[in-house]
Amino acid sequence: MTIPKGWVSIEVKELEDLPCLRFAEKPDRRSSWRLLKEKVVDAGICSHCGTCTICPVDLIILEDRPLDFDPKKGCMGCGVCVAVCPRYNYVPLNGPGEYTEALAGRSKRFAGQDGAMVSEFMAAALEMRLIDVALFVARDEFFRPFVVHVRSADELLDRKVTGTKYSFASVMPELHRIIKRGDRIGFVGTPCMISGLRKVQNKIPLYKKNVPLAVALFCTENFYWHQLYEFLKERGADLREAEKTDITKGNFIVTFRDGSEFSIPVKEMEEIVPEGCHVCQDFSGVEADVSIGSVGSDPGFSTVLIRTPVAKKILDFMLKKDYIETGKAKMKIVQKLCDYKIKIHPYPPKGESEESS
Ligand SMILES: Cc1cc2nc3c(=O)[nH]c(=O)nc-3n(C[C@H](O)[C@H](O)[C@H](O)COP(=O)(O)OP(=O)(O)OC[C@H]3O[C@@H](n4cnc5c(N)ncnc54)[C@H](O)[C@@H]3O)c2cc1C
Ligand code: SF4
Ligand code: SF4
Ligand code: SF4
Repeated sequence: MTIPKGWVSIEVKELEDLPCLRFAEKPDRRSSWRLLKEKVVDAGICSHCGTCTICPVDLIILEDRPLDFDPKKGCMGCGVCVAVCPRYNYVPLNGPGEYTEALAGRSKRFAGQDGAMVSEFMAAALEMRLIDVALFVARDEFFRPFVVHVRSADELLDRKVTGTKYSFASVMPELHRIIKRGDRIGFVGTPCMISGLRKVQNKIPLYKKNVPLAVALFCTENFYWHQLYEFLKERGADLREAEKTDITKGNFIVTFRDGSEFSIPVKEMEEIVPEGCHVCQDFSGVEADVSIGSVGSDPGFSTVLIRTPVAKKILDFMLKKDYIETGKAKMKIVQKLCDYKIKIHPYPPKGESEESS
């Protein structure tokens, strides 16, 4: 069958129970968004990755709160939202994944959260002309995350652009917004966002073609910005005064501009950890081209797991240009964190599996 210009072909083999259609030109008003609501959002397993905001009628609302829907927008029943959701028919990924090389790295050019290796990877990919733009998550004066387009290494000298923001960021909606421009895009995200990216890349070839580089950040949990802000404020820590936030050795640490610090055990933040994180086992971002985190390296360095040829090519370029200093990654510690995430986030959650068996 010939697909009309502008339409996409979506394989839905694994979605037999979907009342959606193979091609989006045949509307089915039984509304696939209801499946997402019932089986992902109401089931408490939505990761807030934002992949489903690909919806052509903007029915899916991704804001700083759990995912919501606006049925007034008129669902076409195309099923794309369900087809790209990594938590529909969810099978958790876990472990350190298949990596070809592991190292500790530190950029000689940039200052970041740890060794600024994420910034370095993107800057090198821009210089190599592998990508035209990198999507970064910057922060405003309230430490609220927002997405910026980085097209040159100089932009990464801004400390508000580099560094970790422990809040959900709308990288995926921005990717959907710009995907048709033809730019080759470098994508950075938490493991759940990388899973969303891989799912949409498998369904829609344009995403594969235009996103040649995906960098995962190690991740144990994330927060809604307003909940994190209020939680810390109630305990006397004002994010407006913060220079850096970090999670180290089980503690959430805010470093303020005057050099003072506030620290609280992450265990005490349990009440604001979103439910979708509670069923997530992917610490290392197993589907990324390269995964980067702080665990497994000395302070000031990032742990880097090279997984694909494009990541290896960029690493070799950085070494040749003498942009980075390298050391040994402690993979036993990374493995320990991967195992820990499986232990604290069983899926199906404890109790549910017993009930259903
Ligand atoms: C929510 C979250 C939880 C994390 N948990 C852990 C952990 O448990 N253990 C661990 O070892 N490492 C964790 N990390 C990764 C770690 O904090 C550093 O991001 C990583 O080591 C890279 O440091 P860097 O200096 O190389 O990065 P930099 O060069 O400073 O670049 C940071 C990159 O992170 C991106 N970024 C920042 N905030 C977000 C966000 N909210 N969503 C998407 N992208 C973002 C920026 O766009 C930038 O590309 C976490 C990161 C995040 C975002
Ligand atoms: S992508 Fe939008 S229009 Fe298509 S099924 Fe989902 S909610 Fe409906
Ligand atoms: S997991 Fe991601 S794609 Fe699925 S419903 Fe939640 S935000 Fe949408
Ligand atoms: S723990 Fe991290 S990767 Fe997992 S769902 Fe939460 S934000 Fe996403």
